[in-house]
Amino acid sequence: MESQTRSISFGTPGDVSSISPQLDRMIKQKSRDLRLRKVDQQSAVKTVNHLIESLLEYLKKNEDQPFFRDVSVLTSGSYYEVVKINKPNEFDIMLKLKVPRLELSELEEYQGLFYKVKLVKATRKEIQHFLLEDERTISATKIKEEMHRLVRKFISNHFKGKGWVINRKLVNSPAVTLEYNNKEKEDDVMSVDIVPTLEVPQGWPQAARSGPNIDNWLGKKCRRQFVSKAVYFVPKRPKGRNLKDDAKESWRISFSHIEKEMMQYHGNKKTCCESFSNKCCRKRCLQLLKCLIEGLKQRYPKELEPLCSYHGKTAFFHVLSDRVQDSLWSPGQMSVSFMKLFGYFERRALDGSLLHFFVRQHNLFSPPAFPKRALAFLTNALKEQRELEFPVLKVPSPSAALVPDTDALLHPNPINGTDSIVASERSFRHVYAWLVVVIVCVGIGCVFV
Ligand SMILES: [Zn+2]
Repeated sequence: MESQTRSISFGTPGDVSSISPQLDRMIKQKSRDLRLRKVDQQSAVKTVNHLIESLLEYLKKNEDQPFFRDVSVLTSGSYYEVVKINKPNEFDIMLKLKVPRLELSELEEYQGLFYKVKLVKATRKEIQHFLLEDERTISATKIKEEMHRLVRKFISNHFKGKGWVINRKLVNSPAVTLEYNNKEKEDDVMSVDIVPTLEVPQGWPQAARSGPNIDNWLGKKCRRQFVSKAVYFVPKRPKGRNLKDDAKESWRISFSHIEKEMMQYHGNKKTCCESFSNKCCRKRCLQLLKCLIEGLKQRYPKELEPLCSYHGKTAFFHVLSDRVQDSLWSPGQMSVSFMKLFGYFERRALDGSLLHFFVRQHNLFSPPAFPKRALAFLTNALKEQRELEFPVLKVPSPSAALVPDTDALLHPNPINGTDSIVASERSFRHVYAWLVVVIVCVGIGCVFV
């Protein structure tokens, strides 16, 4: 009864004083489960690498569209950022297209996130086929369409019957999405988002000029380095109906290259996570939050349609830039750290204000991208999760079944494992006692006979 009352009145957003032992155990267990997924991912990475290398070669040699010959992968090698936690085999690949000097103009009603991208001067280069009538503005729809056409041709020429299929085009997505289904292994499913990207080397636009707020966390020098890097644009239009012509052809600014760097070198001290002795739990906290977001989306797909993992990642960076010391994120602080992160996210939803980490004037929780009704639903859902100690995290995620048995043996579930040992011991004792009784009875019987 007492524990029931406590779990119902469980604190306020971000309150870490009343983390129950059950909640602490569940958070740690869930985070261990998520770590095991990495084992599965290696073969997926291999398959995706092979696909992307072949695609690059195809594009470089292609006869029908010279503009796409000069492409490169923005994040090369085997390190891809995993977007979704419950589906570890989803990959994002940004293909960088080489463009001449560009001029950016911000679409005002979108507070620094969406831009019209123009060539500084007219050109006879290959890019001319992807311009609007003014012969300078780069058309996001034309680039997307061509990327789609080329990938379709590539798959039918080189990967036909090998399990890869192209998903239909989505008007709001910048990506060409390929799905892979292994006929021999039903569980072996993965998807790859291929996103054409423009590089703008001449400095960040005004809205992001001051850079991310990382002075206390990663340092001023690091911020200056980030701001001196190129910035990227992907062919993505804003959400909403009755868009103006400019908005239909707009490009969305992307900082994913910087985000990746911040994820990799995330410590206040440079040595964080370099060895076992200075491991931290930052990444695991983000994984848990992403897992929670996905779980909620699966449960309420319609109501929470505007919610995505980027909201979680943004909250994560804000918390990191405020809670800077590495010792606060030591593995022993896992539950406290997660509750702090979750609390921040819940408070942002309550206030209806989650600022973009790089473009401070843009609120990711503002309509039309995030309608008020969806935000109210999210606020209630988060409160309920906190009060009931995160039932959505207790549901085993679909791919948990993919984890091989050997891993389960290496990391046995402490609760179930012990329970089953105790249970079998009990039943063994039971049988043993009955045997003794029978032997004694037979013995007594013999004496009397
Ligand atoms: Zn670390």
